Amino acid sequence: MQSQEGRQERETIDFSVVIPAYNEQEVLHESYRRLKTVMDGVEGTYELLFVDDGSRDATRAILRELAARDPHVRFIGFSRNFGHQAAITAGVDASAGRAVVVIDADLQDPPELIPKMIEKWREGYEVVYGKRLKRAGETWFKKVTASLFYRFLRSMANQDIPTDAGDFRLLDRRIVRILLENVNERCRYMRGLVAWMGFRQTYVEYDRDARFAGQTHYPLKKMVRLAMDAITAFTMPLKIATWMGFCLSALSFLYLLVNIGLKLFTDITQPGWTSLIAVSLFFNGVILIMLGLMGEYIARIIEEVKGRPLYLVAETGNLKDRSFRDNG
Ligand code: UDP
Ligand code: MG
Repeated sequence: MQSQEGRQERETIDFSVVIPAYNEQEVLHESYRRLKTVMDGVEGTYELLFVDDGSRDATRAILRELAARDPHVRFIGFSRNFGHQAAITAGVDASAGRAVVVIDADLQDPPELIPKMIEKWREGYEVVYGKRLKRAGETWFKKVTASLFYRFLRSMANQDIPTDAGDFRLLDRRIVRILLENVNERCRYMRGLVAWMGFRQTYVEYDRDARFAGQTHYPLKKMVRLAMDAITAFTMPLKIATWMGFCLSALSFLYLLVNIGLKLFTDITQPGWTSLIAVSLFFNGVILIMLGLMGEYIARIIEEVKGRPLYLVAETGNLKDRSFRDNG
């Protein structure tokens, strides 16, 4: 692995806090205030690295103003909305800290937990993730689907992906360097990627608060997309098709034998086409699902092959010495 420091002159900082923000004008001042209070209390230098994921509200303007006032504040502004995972990636790419903390802008993850994470990091862990015990202020639908998803993913995945852990986590520089230099996936599921890397990982537990203000930017569509990215990247549901095919063929072969037997040795004839229609509808459904699954994979293969940039940076603040993976 090539040393990152060799290629460009970055200031050395102890801690980078990466904060993805999309239309967060109502919370930004408050998150800045709380993050600053926490980080001022931690021994070491730090930067608050906001990533504006193409917001349509005053988020960008607020960041400019904060960056002008406080040199700890740096920001990256995307040319459009590239999504949460891309925003995290950009922030981590540009970070300079010996440890990098990723935290949501909406204060659902308490900044006050960061010193605990840093403590664990000082004990020698490369990854410290936050494990959610309770989730306040979220709909039962979100809680149920999230819980089902984490458990499904965990049972299917080829490696250990922690349940109920979001993107709130601390990464050692070593992990960051690998992410930047060796991981080029486009359809990203950061939590899975980090789990896949191994090293020494641990967690701290916390209760997830309700959003400070504003509302979720993860509508059902984005949630499903993230889930599909995770599932296709870390599990092989296509294998279900093979397994199901075998079972169904065996079953239908038995059924055929029984019917031949009935025809030869008794005078019972099998009545009705309802069963036929039901069976045919069922199998057509199964085939369509499997086709759709293949489609999901193919779409992602195309995405990877095209190799377009993960994000485009339109503007930066207080980040003159940094470079990004795509455009400077
Ligand atoms: N976010 C982002 N880009 C997006 C959607 C969300 O950068 O396209 C940010 C958002 O500003 C927040 C974090 O990602 O800091 C988590 O989003 P949100 O709170 O809406 O999701 P939830 O907590 O409801 O899952
Ligand atoms: Mg949130």
